[in-house]
Amino acid sequence: MNMKNLKQFIIQETIRFVETANRAAVPEKIWKTPLVGFADVRHPAIRNLKQTAGEHHQMPEDVMEDAVIVLVYFVPFQDFLSKENKDKGLATKDWAQAYETTNAMFSKLNQHLIRVIEEQGFSAKESPEARIFYRDEVISHWSFRHFAYTAGLGTFGLNNMLITEQGCAGRINGLVTNLRVSPDQPQQEEACLFKRNGSCGLCLQVCPAKAITEQAYDRRKCYAQCLKNAEVHTGLGSSYSQGNEAIGSEVCGKCVAGMPCALKRP
Ligand code: SF4
Ligand code: SF4
Repeated sequence: MNMKNLKQFIIQETIRFVETANRAAVPEKIWKTPLVGFADVRHPAIRNLKQTAGEHHQMPEDVMEDAVIVLVYFVPFQDFLSKENKDKGLATKDWAQAYETTNAMFSKLNQHLIRVIEEQGFSAKESPEARIFYRDEVISHWSFRHFAYTAGLGTFGLNNMLITEQGCAGRINGLVTNLRVSPDQPQQEEACLFKRNGSCGLCLQVCPAKAITEQAYDRRKCYAQCLKNAEVHTGLGSSYSQGNEAIGSEVCGKCVAGMPCALKRP
């Protein structure tokens, strides 16, 4: 299979898997069509990850010696999830459930993609760091958003989310690979209205924790708000708590839901 066909094949396999998972979803579909990108591990945005995303950030070559491409995908949430979650206060139960269900689906999707990539004669691996959230540091050592940026899927908003053509309401995941395909390039224009022309700033206004300012995003304030949600949203899953569902779902999403960048690039 040539490079172009291989890329298209992997994109279609990702879309097909999410469509199938959606059909089995109870009580209704929660995902829209995924966006898929291919990030070049040699790109400066990846080489500089320890400066931009944290000194302990894992590098693709730590996951796979001959890493070439990070395959990264964004799975948008259906619009109803954002519409429901836009009121003040805690996140809705549906929002918390979508977070957990999506993370659980990613494990299966990644296993499927690893299999189809191996069938094509290449390798793919999950980063072990992708499943760990260091609560003391309030950080992960694997930022899918940075890989998605490098793969041209979107640019960072004032809300610290990646704003894609399908907005920022959704979740990102992916795999380190040694695929021989042409990498995608980061977008040149800012998707966030505030970063593009100084307008909007709605996420800053609605954040219940005052974690967003024009200058920075305060991850500790944000996490404190997510913990308030986790006290309420228990028993839905355990994405980052090693199977302990009693810890609850550490979610919020008020700087996403109802924002002009939630469902599309504004
Ligand atoms: S709500 Fe407005 S300012 Fe905030 S990230 Fe979205 S576009 Fe940018
Ligand atoms: S997730 Fe919630 S607490 Fe965190 S920045 Fe967004 S609105 Fe604020």
